Amino acid sequence: MGQGVALKRRHFLAASTLPLLGCDKAPAIDGGFVGVQHERGHLLRASASPWPAPLKTQRTRVLIAGGGVAGLAAARALRLRGIHDFTLLELEDAAGGNSRGGQVHGMPCPLGAHYLPVPGNDAHEVQDLLEELGLRQRVAGRWVYDERHLCHSPQERLFIDGQWQEGLLPLQGVDAATLADYRRFARLVREASNAASFTIPVSKAALAPAHQALDAMTFEAWLDRQQLTSAPLRWYLDYCCRDDYGAGLATVSAWAGLHYFASRHGFSAPGAEPSSEREHAVEGGILTWPEGNGWLTQRLAQPLGERLQTGRVVMRVAAGKHGVELDAINTRSQTLERWQADHCILALPLFVAARVLDNPPPALREAAAALRYAPWLVANLHLKSALHDRPGAAPSWDNVIYSAGVASTGLGYVDAMHQSLQAVPGATVLTHYRAFGIDAAQRKDLYQQPWTHWRDKVLAELAVPHPDLPGKVTRIDVMRYGHAMSTPVPGIRSSAALRALQGAQPAPWQRLQFAHSDVSGYSVFEEAFTHGHAAASAFGSKPTR
Ligand SMILES: Cc1cc2nc3c(=O)[nH]c(=O)nc-3n(C[C@H](O)[C@H](O)[C@H](O)COP(=O)(O)OP(=O)(O)OC[C@H]3O[C@@H](n4cnc5c(N)ncnc54)[C@H](O)[C@@H]3O)c2cc1C
Repeated sequence: MGQGVALKRRHFLAASTLPLLGCDKAPAIDGGFVGVQHERGHLLRASASPWPAPLKTQRTRVLIAGGGVAGLAAARALRLRGIHDFTLLELEDAAGGNSRGGQVHGMPCPLGAHYLPVPGNDAHEVQDLLEELGLRQRVAGRWVYDERHLCHSPQERLFIDGQWQEGLLPLQGVDAATLADYRRFARLVREASNAASFTIPVSKAALAPAHQALDAMTFEAWLDRQQLTSAPLRWYLDYCCRDDYGAGLATVSAWAGLHYFASRHGFSAPGAEPSSEREHAVEGGILTWPEGNGWLTQRLAQPLGERLQTGRVVMRVAAGKHGVELDAINTRSQTLERWQADHCILALPLFVAARVLDNPPPALREAAAALRYAPWLVANLHLKSALHDRPGAAPSWDNVIYSAGVASTGLGYVDAMHQSLQAVPGATVLTHYRAFGIDAAQRKDLYQQPWTHWRDKVLAELAVPHPDLPGKVTRIDVMRYGHAMSTPVPGIRSSAALRALQGAQPAPWQRLQFAHSDVSGYSVFEEAFTHGHAAASAFGSKPTR
């Protein structure tokens, strides 16, 4: 049983040739897979428990299962309520989930999420957190964000036709028909957000009939219907969907495709002024850190002390009228531990919650069956010196490569040193992202291919704008997420089952709360945080259904 729980980073010294790159001499690049092996999560698949029964039972008032953003937000909200008798159990060796930070050769970098857009007023719980962390304060009656943590300019650039352009919407060499499509799409986004509000978090607005209709079709079908056919627009929208939802426009719903723009910054056609207050307010407002959103999760985890127990795989949760019983594997001692509590917040992906819960509520079964998860890969590349640059826009925080007409899983890279104030560029870490969509074969490939496969793929892709990159990389750490995030496929936004998992639960599940970004059907910081906060604030309230 024990060999399934490997705790160590696996490193390789790679010296195989890179034929794709046409290198005369293969670079010696150190690296490997990082993070715990996925087998730890797969312990849940065992049909019979090989673990001896626990010798003792521990007690706490509230158990939190899962220490991602949602679980950490729940812990913070309990503290704010004056409830200090709680325990948070997390499978990995550190809290943070998809929002963890790491290091390569001593340089901080994200292992997953890397930015938080300045939250709007619908996400007031997140605004409160940012105020508590000193990131936002009121100056002369206006909210002002700490400049050190707002993404410095230049923010984004796109490599297209052999050069860099500012911004990610393709402009280089596009024709009049494409520009007309950009303008028409901008108008449609505006009309959609005027018809019914797109909020983040989504739970802050009731589902409008107009949104139900948008949720019934794919974004691609909606674009076809609108006759928005230009390839650069389609490429851009596909990129945006992959970037936020892990899957492209043929997979996500039209609601999700429009929500991406309408809930935040709108869509500005080239040359057009931002047309709404919202577009003005949030333009350029992105918070980011060298270690990505790990900056936030470390600060959420820090006050927990021993109440945060990492290396604990929650295996079974049984909820009854009088309390909750939970079994978890302690991956260090290789023993099964038993807990009893008055309440339990399940801040786990819903497919995991459905698996560990004895007698799961019908809504959970239904939601878990409906959700589709996208795998992701995050590669952190340590560079010993700065890259030569191609003509055009200057090196930016986010650097994306256009792939004419072909949907690519690669989403470019962010530069972890972007926020540093160093005058002369030097050694850095580039974080490259790949989102694979929802085809199960892609997940299999992600786990079956060796590290060298991903090394070569990443190098080949990034060598297109940076031919000198392979010779400057000293190390590549690859993080794999098999079920990184649920993707808002058609039907998810309208799911009654997901709605039923919010707030107080009916008997016999009244001692449980569900808190994970999955409950929103898609994954961003604000959704996860708000569910965690709400779950911890809800004890004692009666189910509304
Ligand atoms: C590569 C990547 C990049 C992203 N980039 C961004 C970004 O830039 N900005 C943004 O806002 N969002 C981003 N996201 C979305 C991100 O998922 C959310 O921001 C947020 O981190 C989700 O938090 P969560 O708590 O809902 O889920 P999770 O992060 O999934 O947390 C669930 C936790 O439960 C734990 N767990 C699972 N099973 C068990 C078990 N059996 N026992 C105990 N613990 C268990 C997991 O280890 C994990 O820590 C990104 C996601 C990925 C994968």
